[in-house]
Amino acid sequence: MRDKALVMLEERCKGDQCQLCVEFCPKHVLCLTEKYNRKGYHPVTACDIDACTSCGFCELICPDMAIFLVDRDEAEEAVKTGMVEEGTVVPELEIDAAKEGGTD
Ligand code: SF4
Ligand code: SF4
Repeated sequence: MRDKALVMLEERCKGDQCQLCVEFCPKHVLCLTEKYNRKGYHPVTACDIDACTSCGFCELICPDMAIFLVDRDEAEEAVKTGMVEEGTVVPELEIDAAKEGGTD
């Protein structure tokens, strides 16, 4: 399990008008969703989060601070306490939650 979690802020993302992170992620982790955000763009998501090496390149290249890495513990705490802005996506935690749900 990685120490860092990838966070995406869907409402800040210019998605199909930008795609810088999609294009430049060296591991081809990222892709666009089919849904629209409030700005009318298809925001980015992780299509292959397992391939992410936490290199941080997407964070560096994003002009809108819509994608970044945080400590996994911090992300867990923020999600648990609801201290995240609308449209926050943390694929690694969503996978964890799905697994937990599946063990019932
Ligand atoms: S941290 Fe690196 S490998 Fe992971 S999504 Fe961003 S650019 Fe891709
Ligand atoms: S670089 Fe930023 S704004 Fe552009 S698609 Fe990626 S997350 Fe969205």
